[in-house]
Amino acid sequence: MANSNLAIANVCDQIEVFNPFDGSIIGTVKEVHAADVKMLLEQARIGVQICAALPRYRRSQILELAAQNIERDAKSFAKLITQEAGKTVKQAEKEVKRCVNTLRLSADEARRNAGEVLPFDAYEGSESRQGWFSREPLGLIVAITPYNDPLNLVAHKLGPAIAGGNAVILKPSELAPLSAIKLVDYLFEAGLPQSVVTVATGGAELGKALVASREVRMISFTGGFVTGEHIARGAGLKKLAMDLGGNAPVIVLEDCDLEAAVESCVSGAFWAAGQNCIGAQRLLIQETIYEEFRERFVALSSKLVVGNPALESTDVGPMISAQAAMNAEKVVGEALQQGAKLLCGHLREGACYAATVLENVSHNSLLWCNEVFAPVVVLEPVTGLDEAIAFANEPDYSLHAGIFTNDLNKALSAARRIEAGGIMINDSSDYRFDAMPFGGFKYGSLGREGVRFAYEDMTQPKVICINKLN
Ligand code: NAD
Repeated sequence: MANSNLAIANVCDQIEVFNPFDGSIIGTVKEVHAADVKMLLEQARIGVQICAALPRYRRSQILELAAQNIERDAKSFAKLITQEAGKTVKQAEKEVKRCVNTLRLSADEARRNAGEVLPFDAYEGSESRQGWFSREPLGLIVAITPYNDPLNLVAHKLGPAIAGGNAVILKPSELAPLSAIKLVDYLFEAGLPQSVVTVATGGAELGKALVASREVRMISFTGGFVTGEHIARGAGLKKLAMDLGGNAPVIVLEDCDLEAAVESCVSGAFWAAGQNCIGAQRLLIQETIYEEFRERFVALSSKLVVGNPALESTDVGPMISAQAAMNAEKVVGEALQQGAKLLCGHLREGACYAATVLENVSHNSLLWCNEVFAPVVVLEPVTGLDEAIAFANEPDYSLHAGIFTNDLNKALSAARRIEAGGIMINDSSDYRFDAMPFGGFKYGSLGREGVRFAYEDMTQPKVICINKLN
């Protein structure tokens, strides 16, 4: 297997990667420091030239072959995700499938999306001209990724970047870098020249130094708001793609299929132990069905098996660390002090935090206003659609929202009035298909992922215009 840490072979500090469930060390990676950025840039500079010169069919072949090999070895990728990020087996297997799809979509994009003919004669006075624009690489992209989808979120950056002919310095989360490194190894094995992707494992100081580098053309970041704000301050004049947090509302109206709504909301709230940017955090339930919904929802949530993610029987694995679980416990504790009522959960053992459901949560609490990023969900009765939409729109950032109703007019009214990057009808907020444009509304969000959209962001149009002289 190729060595994706080629550029950092002479750096001796190490980062230990822990299994969040039992605290065992599952691997070590070389730690790259801010002082090593010069060396990383030297390698990446070569990659910029090499990837731009790769014909589109070749970029596409490499991405397709990597996808095939990952599909073949899906079980070992899933095992690694479970070990380093604590996702259950089912959740990890789904992430691997999605990664394969993301790479295949990227392979398609490399072949398909090369530019467009420009209709110069549509403008009076330009009839003598003919031409087109091509999609050219940006050059060097720095990709910074979080811990929660340690494989597919990396594929969402590398796939479109390679399809577009760019070189990448990838800084995966220091908490879960192993899936990213394995993905890059598979890209090398599929024929990607090693200088095209440089993996740099390290923490915030390394991230800051990469972000500040003048020759980097774009920062593609997925992570939290505070980090996003730091990056925006440090980046200077370069393109930014910001995929940040959420606090998703899901509206449940009295005319919906209640059983389907309960099941979908339980899954949406607790998938990946709630460490999911589009996870359902606030359920806004019409008051006429509130009690019945609450009873069924709490009953189903209480049955979820919390614990070892490697066991098929587990529904909710650990959070990324005991510290993350303690933070969730603290936010819930504060909400309880402000008058919230606990319906189930709020039990912690190490990094495991039980599926937690609350009601009567103050709209001033952190739990209502901010992203909790934990297996915690709030139930709130609403008089009807108008109040639900007003509550849905309260936070100043948003990614996805959901609504359950059998009334098409209400569904479409909600879709029009909720400020979010995606509205899921008769589904919880937790649905994403890797080809769709994905990103937030309101504060902070910049650009869209989803392969075609990221690819377009990661390329720049160049116009060729021919003036026919006679
Ligand atoms: P984080 O912001 O703490 O870290 C993300 C990455 O940024 C890590 O690689 C980290 O090392 C790096 N980093 C930290 N400080 C930095 C700095 N000053 N400069 C440059 N890089 C720096 O996020 P996390 O805790 O790993 O992930 C959880 C967050 O990610 C949640 O808010 C979640 O909603 C968000 N997220 C968003 C999406 C999306 O697509 N919108 C998807 C998944 C997760």
